[in-house]
Amino acid sequence: MNEKILVVEDEENIRTNIKEYLESRQLKVYEAGDGEQALEMVDTVKPDLIILDLMLPKIDGMEVCKQVRRHSNTPIIMVTARNEEIDKLLGLELGADDYITKPFSLRELNARINAVFRRSKHVVDNQEDVRIFGNLEINLDRREVFIDGKHVDLTPSEYAILVTLSENVGRPYSRLQLLTATLGESYAGYERAIDTHVSNLRKKIEPNPQKPIFIQTVYGLGYKFGDKYEAVD
Ligand code: CA
Repeated sequence: MNEKILVVEDEENIRTNIKEYLESRQLKVYEAGDGEQALEMVDTVKPDLIILDLMLPKIDGMEVCKQVRRHSNTPIIMVTARNEEIDKLLGLELGADDYITKPFSLRELNARINAVFRRSKHVVDNQEDVRIFGNLEINLDRREVFIDGKHVDLTPSEYAILVTLSENVGRPYSRLQLLTATLGESYAGYERAIDTHVSNLRKKIEPNPQKPIFIQTVYGLGYKFGDKYEAVD
């Protein structure tokens, strides 16, 4: 397939790292070191996807994004630093398709790229039902879960809990509701079993199971899916 990726990044070592990694994934990589060059290359190269750093010399990433969007639907993944949270949202409003926060792992970047490609490409033929939250990806069609693009093996109960909670980000679910969703109503009375599943699930998907960001406890009730994560789809 050899998709063309334009990497716009003024820090040369980061750019080179990304380039080498993506090339090892059989992608064709083009580089731009500032916003002006980026806009030129968008016209000449016509990339299939743009990885766009926010803070750039000459023309910043926000403006590049805006200008690209005037005449093209090329998917854009914005790259931001941690202290640019607000700009991140703005980037999405300007039409970026996803964002990734520095520092990020190349694996995480790869997962985002795959997800963006899946969303942009397979819309026509066979749109897969995928939920993406940060580095977590739930593929509902294939019943598969990925962290940083890496497959995670979940039991059917763990999977059902994850799917139920992530359906409504931030909405609290009681243990009974989760139990009903996983095992069915006849298991009423076994609500505490949910805690075991949740504990195992956290070990598999949370960066730090002691401080969960995805599956959060709602004291006195049950659990919710972290409201920090709005589904990308
Ligand atoms: Ca920069």
